[in-house]
Amino acid sequence: MKPLRVLLVEDSEDDAALTLRQLKKGGYAASFKRVDTPETMRAALEVREWDIVLSDYNMPEFSGPAALVLLRSTGIDLPFIVISGAMGEESAVALMKAGAHDYIMKDNLARLIPAIERELREAEVRRARQRAEADLHLSAKVFESSVEGVMITDREAHILRVNKAFTEITGYSEADIIGQYPSVLQSGRHDKDFYCGMWQSINDNGYWQGEIWNRRKNGEVFPEWLTISAVTDATGQITHLIGGFTDMSQQKQAEDRIQHLMYYDALTDLPNRVLFRERCKQAMSRARHSSKRVAYLHFDIDRFVNINDTLGHQVGDRLLQQVGQRLAGCVRQQDLVARFVGDEFGVGITDVDRNGSVDDLLQTVVDAFAEPFYVQSREIFLVPSIGVSFFPDDAVEFDDLARFADTALHVAKRDGGANYHFYQKSMNADADDRLSMESALRRALEREEFQLYYQPQLSLETGAIIGVEALLRWQRSSDDLLLPGKFIPLLEETSLIIPVGEWVLRQACQDHHAWIDAGGKPVPIAVNLSARQFRDKSLVAMIRQVLAENDVAAEMIELEITESYVMEDPEEALLTLEIFHEMGIRIAIDDFGTGYSSLSYLKRFPLDVLKIDQSFVADIPADEDDAAIIDTIIAMGHRLKLSVTAEGVETEAQARFLREHGCDNVQGYFYDQPMSSDDFLLRISDA
Ligand code: C2E
Ligand code: CA
Ligand code: CA
Repeated sequence: MKPLRVLLVEDSEDDAALTLRQLKKGGYAASFKRVDTPETMRAALEVREWDIVLSDYNMPEFSGPAALVLLRSTGIDLPFIVISGAMGEESAVALMKAGAHDYIMKDNLARLIPAIERELREAEVRRARQRAEADLHLSAKVFESSVEGVMITDREAHILRVNKAFTEITGYSEADIIGQYPSVLQSGRHDKDFYCGMWQSINDNGYWQGEIWNRRKNGEVFPEWLTISAVTDATGQITHLIGGFTDMSQQKQAEDRIQHLMYYDALTDLPNRVLFRERCKQAMSRARHSSKRVAYLHFDIDRFVNINDTLGHQVGDRLLQQVGQRLAGCVRQQDLVARFVGDEFGVGITDVDRNGSVDDLLQTVVDAFAEPFYVQSREIFLVPSIGVSFFPDDAVEFDDLARFADTALHVAKRDGGANYHFYQKSMNADADDRLSMESALRRALEREEFQLYYQPQLSLETGAIIGVEALLRWQRSSDDLLLPGKFIPLLEETSLIIPVGEWVLRQACQDHHAWIDAGGKPVPIAVNLSARQFRDKSLVAMIRQVLAENDVAAEMIELEITESYVMEDPEEALLTLEIFHEMGIRIAIDDFGTGYSSLSYLKRFPLDVLKIDQSFVADIPADEDDAAIIDTIIAMGHRLKLSVTAEGVETEAQARFLREHGCDNVQGYFYDQPMSSDDFLLRISDA
């Protein structure tokens, strides 16, 4: 006998008995309950599980159609068969349309067993399909990401399941967390808008991804990288949410450490030049608004090399630390002190009044250095020289300000040191030079004096050429080929970089075609964009047009930009970069590490490639700080799904280090010098 749990909706005991006898005959041991009102039926459905509902059609307080409606309202999927003595054809059809599975006439009860058997089979198939669908959806995702913490919730975000990694990371056991809302993990570090944005994205796109701070059971707040995806049913309704996350505490610590290495001087722990530049620029922009001035002091100790040579580097290092402290002691809290390199320091005096002077402060510094230093019980006298320039009096751009202070410093040194000098225009001996260079540059385009050189980029894994960077050259005269460092700043100042930049892209496109026509493989070309170009409103239109004119696919072009462009006006930059991204143009962040930005910040931008600046590559593997920085940049770059290129690779040892640390691509003299277009064609032909 097969067990069968039957809910009988029937007012007559006798009829019920008849049905049960029929079941027994068909080989079923029925456990059953008879109900004949909506209340009793609902109660029966709530307290027990059933295999089937057999219902009478007409009852004093209930009816077959009403019982069917009630069953469907509970959402329980059970076969529903009507057994009736007198039911018209029409009523039967209406019932079937409403979802009844079959109807049996009382005088034809023999049909009951086959009908039940069929319906049970069908119900089992339905259930199996649902289970399979749900399982497939859930388990696939769960297993996919099982090294991550995983949490599954229902549509209302009640937590249904968590995995082992979840428990390990958060400290909450299954018993703690099942049935709770994920909000028990909230750290309090994000505002309402943050969570609103998250839900908006889940509802609109079916997922959300980002960095979020949560709280462990022990109260500790930690960063995680979280992906929430919605599971939907066949009708598109969200049925479950799956959250997968990784604990980023360690990466964050590494990132913080790297930030420190990148922006602070290891010896004195003062800010380095990069951070100094950033903070000075902020001070300059504040000064602009409050009509104040900023004084830039370039500080240098005369003949410091002698100390290193005679007393040794250890003494030299101790001294530099003390110099840093003494300098910092001369200025106010809000002023900036940085060590640039060797014995060169920078000081930024902020909020100087329009008519105020810094003479007193400079005298304080000179006086402070008149006192001896003591290292290893040795008395040492140091002689400082200081060059000073003012924002906005001398210059409004940081780089000019720095250059002018440097010029003034050299004058101070020439005058014997132990003093300070203010920058004066007359110190600029090369002013004339610039004028003649500017007029020559203005004619260079029409005289076709510009050329593009190409430097291959290679895959570290296969050694294959995967791209090439276009580098500008100026053939000023037959024997004078100028590198961009000599003339690009002037092109930018004069805005000539706009037409020249257009020429560069056009020339790159034409060379690209020339290589293909000569039988070469298509090699993607990386083109440098300058900050000035990036601010130009017609940049996007120009690029579109040049690509179309030359019939070059956007995928064949990579634009190299530096961090500073995106930092200047991030919202605007985001819009522009998104347009490029949609066109299919790849974006590389050039000289990464020399600007002041963090990778977590750059996450917002649609970037493809990270180019590690050559200054970090130069001293690996010997320099441990640089090695650590590179190692972290590669790891962080990969976490953001960026391909990482190292620039300026000059030695086998550097290449090996980069390969061992997972760097993707390389560029540098160790492989190739920049070469003419024709030479590049030969290079790719013999490869
Ligand atoms: P960059 O974009 O960082 O270009 C890489 C520079 O490193 C190039 O200098 C290249 O010749 C040099 N280089 C390559 N491999 C090595 C190596 O192994 N060791 C060393 N020490 N250097 C290596 P280049 O050609 O003098 O260009 C200097 C800068 O001028 C470029 O720096 C780029 O910022 C800018 N530039 C070049 N062409 C253009 C251009 O068409 N438009 C704009 N806006 N800027 C350009
Ligand atoms: Ca570049
Ligand atoms: Ca670069």
